[in-house]
This record gives sequence, structure tokens and C-alpha cells, in this order.
Amino acid sequence: MTAQALQQRDLAVVIGLEVHVQLETDTKIFCGCSIEAADDEEPNTRTCPVCLGLPGALPVLNEAAVESAVKIGKAIDADVAEETRFHRKNYYYPDLPKNFQITQYDAPICSDGSLEVSVEGERREIGIGRAHLEEDPGSLQHEGGNIETADYSLVNYNRAGTPLMEIVTEPDFRGPGEVRAFLAKLEEVLEYLGVFDASRDGSLRIDANISLVPADEVGEDGDVDEDVLADANRTEVKNISSHKGAEQALAYEVTRQKNAVKRGREVEQETRHWDESRGITVSMRSKEEEKDYRYFREADLPPLRVSDWKEQISIPELPDARRERFREEYALDAEAASKLTSTKSVADFFEDVADRFDADLAATWVADDLLGELNYRDMGIADVEDRLDEFARLIELVAADEITEKNAREVVLRTMLDEGLDPDAVVDREDLGKAGDEAVVAAVEEAIDENPDAVEDYHAGEGGALNFLVGQVMSKTGGSADPGTVNGLLRERLEA
Ligand code: ADP
Ligand code: ZN
Ligand code: MG
Repeated sequence: MTAQALQQRDLAVVIGLEVHVQLETDTKIFCGCSIEAADDEEPNTRTCPVCLGLPGALPVLNEAAVESAVKIGKAIDADVAEETRFHRKNYYYPDLPKNFQITQYDAPICSDGSLEVSVEGERREIGIGRAHLEEDPGSLQHEGGNIETADYSLVNYNRAGTPLMEIVTEPDFRGPGEVRAFLAKLEEVLEYLGVFDASRDGSLRIDANISLVPADEVGEDGDVDEDVLADANRTEVKNISSHKGAEQALAYEVTRQKNAVKRGREVEQETRHWDESRGITVSMRSKEEEKDYRYFREADLPPLRVSDWKEQISIPELPDARRERFREEYALDAEAASKLTSTKSVADFFEDVADRFDADLAATWVADDLLGELNYRDMGIADVEDRLDEFARLIELVAADEITEKNAREVVLRTMLDEGLDPDAVVDREDLGKAGDEAVVAAVEEAIDENPDAVEDYHAGEGGALNFLVGQVMSKTGGSADPGTVNGLLRERLEA
């Protein structure tokens, strides 16, 4: 459609993603080099003849990478191919020592999957056309500026050969918000599968394709005709590495394309670079086409057959299913269920606690108290996973009425996290054991004897007087009495 024709119509946004996910294996995809990268690691130390592309070195496929790929395929409800193969994608770039990337082309390991996201209460199914295995290139470090202004660039091959899964969606997104929701969902699923580490720098990298089509070409179900899609001029935005970055880059690109159309200009079909620091996309080059890459079969790797093996690879209960089950099994509301399934480790931790006590207590303590305190300290459930017994003991102390909830929350839990003490040790050290009945009764007597004015005010019907007396008793017992009990005892004594 010409720019002039588009100018006259209402426009809809079409977005499709290519998401590169680093798989959390021990070693690289075609060699035995470790992929565990430390931030202060020496460049070019995790390399060998294979991942440096030295002459004569031969790749050997990493079984764990294939297993991760099959798990992802199952999780996105894709067809996992019985037999699959690898291709060489040829191009020259300094981060690619072989001058080709081993990837999959006509026979990806997974095809025809989908992932459901919900955006503002509306459920949307995003098609995933294919997901294939490939190797990550190395990384470049631009010295004294960015890619365009640097004096020189350094290359580090530590990352070269890290297993990647490239997940290619259908152009099913109708806006940047849906993209953000999808990425969050995808990350959640990958984390549940245990194939991905979101905390690793650059573990999720996104190329986003975006175009504008006439709004009336979008059907009831959100689908757009293939001819219309093929006809639309689109840009591909590279260098996006976060959910927020994706939303911002796409929002920028929507505005930029709409402005072009408004002025009667054609949207150039090109590759653009997301400049996060400036918050804009900049033109890199005209879009390369498939034929530019001269794909051909990787003859150094035999075809990969996963036919019987794939049946033996199982995946855990996924987040949506687990949320549903938590709501039913533990009678949780939607908010609690979603907090408690935010990661697999949180969900596992909660279920372990719930197994020992009633689910209500476990839910309150894990969802509200523990997660809140962890979050405040920039800690995660991983930091307390091996302290499940101590945490259970804390709840037990509250349930058995041995300490007040207030002390449990504000003193014991916080000290447990700050100082690594176990709950009994905190209770001892801070003398938090609930005051025995006798001590409380004695404190009540004392408070009444010492404060005749307050007693008089109470009988005169002054509401504040009782609270004052409760406060006196609480301070006499060092806060270890239960305020409700004190309240009752005081009334009883005053009315006698
Ligand atoms: P190419 O062969 O140019 O790489 P593909 O069909 O492989 O194109 O699609 C690449 C990505 O572009 C996919 O994520 C797809 O969803 C997306 N895409 C396809 N058509 C459009 C469009 N009209 N607007 C935005 N994204 C699109
Ligand atoms: Zn290597
Ligand atoms: Mg493509």
C-alpha cells in the first residue's frame, strides 16, 4: 500500500518478536567450555579450538541443550520434531570466529506453539511459529564510546558458543504493552522449566519487528491477512535486552512510524538499533534478506533424532496451572495465588510450609511477611531456601501462642534475615517469650493501683483511659503480653 493510501486510513500496530534465550547448561552447545560467566572473568579464557573456530576443530552437540529445547517445546505446546538438523548461517562479523553461525533453518526443533498472556484482564494467545537451537556469538566491547563513536573495539569469545533458543512469534502483538506481558510470561515459564537464568546479563535478547496496517484489516480475533502483513513495510529493532526496553523501543517506533505516515512518507524497510541511553531507535542498515546468508547444511553435525528420547523428558507444573491449583487446593485469593507462584522456588517453599501447618498461616507468612522482608533487603527466596525448618519454627511459635505476632513479624523474622539467627535464639536473646499469665495479671494489678486517675476516667466513660492502661501493662511486660488478653483482663478487673 502506498504511503498516500495509508495516510487516509486508521492504523493498527503489528508486532512480531524474535527472542534469544540463553540456555542454562553447564557447557557450551558444541564444546566442553563452561558457560558460567563471572562478571570479573578474564576475557577469552573460556575458549577452545571449537568455539574459536580454529581449522579442523569439530563441533559435538550438547545433550543438555537439546533437553532444554524439548522442555521449552513442551511448555509452549509446540510440535517437537522427530528429526532435526543444523545449518550454517554465513556472515562476517568480528564476534563470529568461524564466519558462520551454526543454527537451524528448515527443520527447527520446535514449531507451531503458542503462549497465552493476559493483558488488562483480556486473554490473548500469541502464536510461536518456531523455536530453534543455535550458538551465541562472542561479544564486543567498544572502547571510548559506542558502536559508532568508539576509538576501537575489543572482542571477547567467552560467550561464543553459549546455547541459545531463538523463539520466533507470529506477528500477533497489537501493541507494546502486550509485548511486555508476553516477555514476563515467557521468562516465568522458562524459569519454571529451570532452563534459564534471568539474572544473567544478556540472557534474554529481543529483536522486534513492527509495522502499521490499516485498522480495518484486523479481524475480530485480532488476526491480519497474510497478504496485508507481507505488504506492510516493517522495521526490525535490534539490541533490546529487557521487558521495559522492549516496551519503550516499540512505543518509540510506533510514534516514529505513525509520524512518517502522517507526513505522507513511506516507512523504510530497515534494521534499526535501540539506543537505550537516548531512548530512541536509529537506522543501522537496510534489512538483510534470507538469501544474503547463503544457508547450507552443517556437514560436521549429523541429523539429530529425538523421537523416543523426547517422551522421557518431562516438565514441571507450569505457572498458570499451579496458580489455578493453589486457588482451589489452598483456597487462596487471586492475589495471594499469584504472589506465591511468582517463581517456582517461591511456590515450592510455600507448599513445603503449607504441608506442615495450615495453608492460611503459610500463605500469610510467606506471601506477606517473608516476601516483603526479603524484597526490602534485596534478597530472594533462594537466600532462605535452606532455612525452611527455621521459618516453619517461627510460624509454629506464633501458632502455639508462644510469641506475639507483632514480635514474630517485627523482631524475630527481621533478626533471622539480618543476622542469620534461628528463631529460638532470637526469642531467647530478646526475651520475647510471651509473659506468663501470672506476670500479666500482676502487671494489670499494678497498672490499676498506680493510675487512679485513669481508673476514674474509665468509669466516667472516657474511651482513651482503657487504651492508656493497656499501654501501661504492655510496657510493664516489655511488649510480650498479648494486647487482646490485657484488654480483657483490665475490663474484668475494672468492672468487678
Ligand atoms: P523474515 O523472513 O523477514 O525474517 P519472518 O517471516 O521470518 O520474516 O518473520 C520474522 C519476524 O517478523 C517474526 O517475528 C514475525 O512475526 C514478524 N513479522 C512478520 N510480518 C510482520 C509485520 N507485517 N509486522 C511486524 N512483524 C512482522
Ligand atoms: Zn569451547
Ligand atoms: Mg526470519
